[in-house]
Amino acid sequence: MKPFKGERIFTPGPVELQDRIREVLSRQIIHHRTPEFKEAFLETRELFKQLVDCKEDNFIFFASSGTGAMEASVLNFFEEGDKVIAVVGGKFGERWAELGRKYKLQVVELEVEWGKSVDPDAVEKLIKENPDCKGVLVQASESSTGAYHNVKALAEITKDTGVLLVVDAITALGVYNMKPHQWGLDVVVGGSQKAFMLPPGLSMLWFSEKAKERLTDRSYYFDVKEELKKQKEGQTAFTPAISLILALRESLSILLEEGMEKVERRYRLMSEGMKRAIEVLGLKIFPENPSISLTTVIPPEGIDPENLRRSMLKLGVRVAGGQGKLKGKIFRISHMGMDIMDMPVVLSALELSLKSIGHTFGLGAGVGEYLKAVHPGVEDG
Ligand SMILES: *Cc1c(COP(=O)(O)O)cnc(C)c1O
Repeated sequence: MKPFKGERIFTPGPVELQDRIREVLSRQIIHHRTPEFKEAFLETRELFKQLVDCKEDNFIFFASSGTGAMEASVLNFFEEGDKVIAVVGGKFGERWAELGRKYKLQVVELEVEWGKSVDPDAVEKLIKENPDCKGVLVQASESSTGAYHNVKALAEITKDTGVLLVVDAITALGVYNMKPHQWGLDVVVGGSQKAFMLPPGLSMLWFSEKAKERLTDRSYYFDVKEELKKQKEGQTAFTPAISLILALRESLSILLEEGMEKVERRYRLMSEGMKRAIEVLGLKIFPENPSISLTTVIPPEGIDPENLRRSMLKLGVRVAGGQGKLKGKIFRISHMGMDIMDMPVVLSALELSLKSIGHTFGLGAGVGEYLKAVHPGVEDG
């Protein structure tokens, strides 16, 4: 039976759009060289400044997917031949290394077993062994494995050195109450279709004063210096993703109305509830230290996650599979843009699909465990 409300999307990008966002996106386009756009753009910048909790407005919005801002980071803050350490513990860590090599940086890869989080001591040791290192490239939330890398601890190492800490926070900024300035991060990348709950096509690039001093002149489209000048004035060098900027103003308002502290607490609770539900069903959580943006699951012996995914899809629930070497080994359930009461939907689909494949457990066990986790006062019976 086809679900008459259509598909629910629980993938780590794109994520479902809230009504408030869809309402903004349904409006007629406005021209970007107008006082109306300028006002909206500057207001969006003010909201973003509140989100990252900084006085300086060292940040840019680009009309690109998240990878565009990753490329911009490599091009704008490093020169050819610069040595960088790339933390590679998943597909997006690999992307940092590939980007670095593409633009002729000297990339030292710090390999982390997929699913594990990087050990800050290993980073510190590698920096000591490479005194000419100019940057560390890392993910906050490595969405391909679901692992969280403790970027705050990494910043303690790089803070008072010449090393720039470049953080891909595409599934972290907007979920975690990140304080890039206070923590001592140098570059932070965000993306629209993940934690910001928008359609794809917009990326965000925040940078520290330390990073600002290192700005290069290596990119035309992603020219941070030029863009910053324009964007501070409420303009952009090229045609901005007008509708997405207006929608970003709305998503920032949604996040700030709830308050980032509460946003993080909500995702933390959902993540804990999902973990307990998954384990009670006899499945395993893949990452050692899970990001609260998504739940990454290893199915029981003999159950193909792709089968499970297809079965869930028939029930109207889309979750993501594994990427790269995790293809066919795991599946991933995003929390981004979801409320606490959304997750029982995905758990229900998971339970029914597990039953159809012959996995044994008491029906409703996962949902029940989740509800107990998110409402600690509730009891069985
Ligand atoms: C999705 C994602 C990216 C890539 O973003 P695109 O918008 O697909 O270019 C990079 N890093 C992380 C951690 C992601 O989750």
